[in-house]
Amino acid sequence: MLNIIVLVKQVPNTSEVKIDPETNNLIREGIPSIVNPYDLYAIEEALRLKEQYGAKVTALSMGPGMAADVLKEAIAMGADKGVLLSDYAFRGADTLATAYTLAAGVKEIGIPDLILCGKQAADGDTAQVPPELAEQLGMACITYVSKIYEINDGKIVVRRNLDYGDMEAEADLPAVITVQKGINDVRLPTLESMVVAAAQPIKTLTVKDVDVDENKISIAGSPTKVVKIFSPKTERRGRVLEGSLEEQLSVVMEQLQEGEFLVKEGVM
Ligand code: FAD
Repeated sequence: MLNIIVLVKQVPNTSEVKIDPETNNLIREGIPSIVNPYDLYAIEEALRLKEQYGAKVTALSMGPGMAADVLKEAIAMGADKGVLLSDYAFRGADTLATAYTLAAGVKEIGIPDLILCGKQAADGDTAQVPPELAEQLGMACITYVSKIYEINDGKIVVRRNLDYGDMEAEADLPAVITVQKGINDVRLPTLESMVVAAAQPIKTLTVKDVDVDENKISIAGSPTKVVKIFSPKTERRGRVLEGSLEEQLSVVMEQLQEGEFLVKEGVM
């Protein structure tokens, strides 16, 4: 039987994210939180492996207490248990400190055969955590996986979907795998499974429960800092053309040839 850990991050519903113009921080208050959409594919893939090979699936998250909700969602889908790394001492972590803390959580749970992750988080969007986690745990990491062909003889064989084509790759287990959107169709939890999951306790690990160097967690362990978050301004330079339609079109053609892009109501 395989042991699988799925990393699940709680993210704000991105369609509703706003940035505070004064502080440049994300306004999270009142914004509904969801399971990072890519992580749903990772959970589904773990459940399919469970059905195929037999597996124990543990969902692991690092975040505030309310991140327990995403673990309950994973359990409602079919994961066996949820573990939440949550402590004020973990706050303000960049990707390296996040990966370090998650690695400590993985060691506390027990090194699994496979760690499945989403390809990236919808808020941080760096795609750095899984490779950094693999490095911390001394495991191979295969990113952008669009199909798991098989797990056999201590190896995993996958297809990676890249900008320039597809690639088949193989790694020794234990390994970290990040999955693409579309690797599977994500199942919906049933009402009954949601009720059962809601009642299931989530194990919380605080800083005292994991073996960490306090200089490597939170802000202290974060070599990078967010200097500013902002929405890029899109500016349009409008110009109203005079003359007949032919004259206007010839100006447009001239400007296009010179590399300028013109917009005029009724012309483009
Ligand atoms: P990605 O690497 O894009 O995520 C890929 C996958 O890794 C996910 O699909 C998921 O499977 C897994 N994963 C990632 N994070 C988690 C998690 N927490 N739990 C479980 N699985 C996970 N955040 C703050 O709240 N406060 C800060 O002060 C802060 N400072 C930051 C400074 C910098 C320079 C950066 C880049 C980020 C900072 N963040 C901060 C954001 C925080 O570090 C990231 O959200 C976190 O490290 C995950 O990175 P990501 O969102 O890019 O995940």
